[in-house]
Amino acid sequence: MEPGILKRYSRENLKKREFSCSTFMIYLGVKKRYDMDHHTIVFAKDYRSNVRNIFQDRTLSDDMSFYVQNASITDPTLAPEGKSTIYILVPIGNRLGATDWAQEREPFKQMMLDLVTRRTPMKDLREQIEVERVITPLDWEEKGRIYLGATFNLSHTFAQLLYLRPRNRFEELDNCFLVVGGTHPGSGLPTIYESARISSNLLCRNTASRSRAEQPPGQGSRSAGSIRRVGDRTIRTRGGAAARLPSFLLMGLPAASAPGPDRLHLAQAPSER
Ligand SMILES: Cc1cc2nc3c(=O)[nH]c(=O)nc-3n(C[C@H](O)[C@H](O)[C@H](O)COP(=O)(O)OP(=O)(O)OC[C@H]3O[C@@H](n4cnc5c(N)ncnc54)[C@H](O)[C@@H]3O)c2cc1C
Repeated sequence: MEPGILKRYSRENLKKREFSCSTFMIYLGVKKRYDMDHHTIVFAKDYRSNVRNIFQDRTLSDDMSFYVQNASITDPTLAPEGKSTIYILVPIGNRLGATDWAQEREPFKQMMLDLVTRRTPMKDLREQIEVERVITPLDWEEKGRIYLGATFNLSHTFAQLLYLRPRNRFEELDNCFLVVGGTHPGSGLPTIYESARISSNLLCRNTASRSRAEQPPGQGSRSAGSIRRVGDRTIRTRGGAAARLPSFLLMGLPAASAPGPDRLHLAQAPSER
């Protein structure tokens, strides 16, 4: 987009926002099944330092908190018989930190495998690995196209939470709607589905009202229109409304905008006739 069109949400302004941490991921296919719960969270012994390293210094430490998912214990079909899938998620500073991930990728992976074997029942994990995939914050940024590798998008700080998050109807461009992690109501899958519901309702409402406005005088949209259920709402449109859809853009990226009254109504699922 040409510089100057976006003001509140220019690149420069977006850079001033707070973005979430990143993650270091180790996805493994292993030759056995471990008798471990589906979810295991291990906290760093010095949890305060760990949190400071993630969110303030954005540096690595020897003692990290991590999450292990042993999903095959719930669904054995995820891997061939007797084998399993394991993933290890390490919350880590985003790409505002100075870590050179091209250099650190392998040493950090080895350090994490040491930590995991030490602090979980998977003592022989290294010998059991059949396939692996590692994702660093740099990979999230470059291959996943995630700004700063900030996997959870805009931080959920008070000033960027719920109503204070960018709005679903983009106020700087007509007929542009934003959706998912970077927008209202927030990141995380249940909230993201809600964001999609809100944005699609806004879009349908926008389309329906434009369609009514474009009718020749004397033709009531209700008599000529069709009725559709969208989520928990009923939308009336004229025949052919879809052909006149306004140009719009649905963006799932951490760009965005700010709160507005529309969303509040929609978040409360109003009835519309
Ligand atoms: C490792 C990990 C574990 C997680 N676990 C959980 C969990 O257990 N529960 C939970 O609720 N949430 C979890 N989350 C958070 C959740 O996954 C995210 O909040 C959610 O996926 C974000 O959805 P999104 O649609 O905003 O973005 P994404 O899912 O990142 O989708 C954006 C899409 O846009 C594509 N894209 C980027 N740039 C362009 C472009 N220029 N043109 C076209 N396409 C483009 C990307 O490739 C991507 O497919 C986890 C996140 C991570 C990283």
